[in-house]
Amino acid sequence: MLSSLLRQAHLLPTNKTSRHSCQVINGLISVASLRFGEMLRLLKGAPLALCLRLGVLHLSVVLVCLSVASGQALTRVPEADSRYKMDILLVVAHPDDEGAATPYLARAIDEGKRVAVAYGTRGSSGENQAGTENAAALGEIREIEARDALATLGIDKAWFLGGTDTASQDVLQSLANWGHGKTLENLVRLVRLTRPEVILTFLPGTFIGENHGDHQAAGVLATEAFDLAGDPTVFPEQVAAPLRRLEPYFENLRPWQPKKIYYFSDADKEDIFEGKGPRYSVKDISQSTKQAYWRAALESFRRHETQAKDFIDSLAHMDEAQIEKMATTDFWTNGIFFVLGKSLVGGRTTGDIFEGIAPGTIPFARPQIASVEAKPAICVELAGPWSFYAEFRRAHGLLHLPHPEPPEIALQGGTTLVIPIWLHNETTAPQEFTFSLSLPSGWTTQSNTARLTVGAKQTGAARVEVNLPLVSDSAAQKPGLQEVSVRAEADGQRVGIIKLKVELHKRALPE
Ligand SMILES: [Zn+2]
Repeated sequence: MLSSLLRQAHLLPTNKTSRHSCQVINGLISVASLRFGEMLRLLKGAPLALCLRLGVLHLSVVLVCLSVASGQALTRVPEADSRYKMDILLVVAHPDDEGAATPYLARAIDEGKRVAVAYGTRGSSGENQAGTENAAALGEIREIEARDALATLGIDKAWFLGGTDTASQDVLQSLANWGHGKTLENLVRLVRLTRPEVILTFLPGTFIGENHGDHQAAGVLATEAFDLAGDPTVFPEQVAAPLRRLEPYFENLRPWQPKKIYYFSDADKEDIFEGKGPRYSVKDISQSTKQAYWRAALESFRRHETQAKDFIDSLAHMDEAQIEKMATTDFWTNGIFFVLGKSLVGGRTTGDIFEGIAPGTIPFARPQIASVEAKPAICVELAGPWSFYAEFRRAHGLLHLPHPEPPEIALQGGTTLVIPIWLHNETTAPQEFTFSLSLPSGWTTQSNTARLTVGAKQTGAARVEVNLPLVSDSAAQKPGLQEVSVRAEADGQRVGIIKLKVELHKRALPE
């Protein structure tokens, strides 16, 4: 009788195929049944209602027996902390970077979405416009400013991944400076903790624009975390269940596969992002505040006084129309756009970020790695962040991500352009490469030609250094792309040409 009651409640197997998974329950039920066997025998012929009541009683005793049998005082299996379940995890580099997405975040929060933010650094470098504190002390202040800025939007979950600021455009330097492995481990942990439906982050790529290496590093790490957090073999100690009370090592998180990842960019030119993802007007009116979303974003940005006090003070001297024009043309432009990186749940490329997303888990999706393009046995390629990104897009199934071709970079006049080069020799004999350089007028180098030998089955690294001219005031007014090219020959045959478009500015981050 008890067995049939439990079967009705789907607690006991009804056929052989489901027997294996229920062996533990069966065992516990038989332990409990020994104690209640006598009582059940007494119930022969009793009314059904009484039997049902005793069935429920028996079930609760089974659960108590389960606790006793496992030797712990558990009466239920605890669930993950629902206060940390998010819809959006924003991954950026520095305090104030969230401003690139705040007009959209304000909209998403209006729609009931839960948002958390992960920062790569605490932003301890740069000048302090609000006080005298510098370096690590400035970082302490900027963490508070970032939390205050998020609080204006209703976001109270933010984490700092422990990196420090890197003054460079090179994503590889930022990853090295942050401690790539440790930071990735932290971010995978946060993805498993916050279980976001969507990750939003900077577009990993080299563009003319702010192009901060730290911004790119945030995008690289977020992409890696998107592809790894659902894999139980990645940082398995994070997903291991506790072995004892007050478990000191295992984190008892669960693998989590986010459903979509979108990117935003601080590139100067936006044309190559057109049609690659959704666009949201910053002028749309919030249902909850009855104000345009740019206002919520600007209100949030005002908290970053150490970074922007001069700008914030200037707002006091502007009328409403001027502030709106500034916010919707210079600051955010009208449309805040995203580039769809991946969706594992369908939806249109330019559709809403949450299109196709339903609550609940989805299976871990190993990234679709594109096959390696066959290279000639002897060839050269632009190295550094450019060759990294080519491999990165391939390894993460992101070949569709927009990137400038030929590659581009903005540099400060009067500094040095370094062109890193891989020299591949897959033949069985040493190979001599001959290089010739073509430069815009006024750009100089030690020698426009060079010869280098690479051993059999080896890849060599070389670099060309170019002295850049100072930028005149008139040239700074209308900067333009100029092309540098490096031709490579071996045995009198061309084996490659490397092109790089360079724009000279009065000020720019080091390469
Ligand atoms: Zn930044």
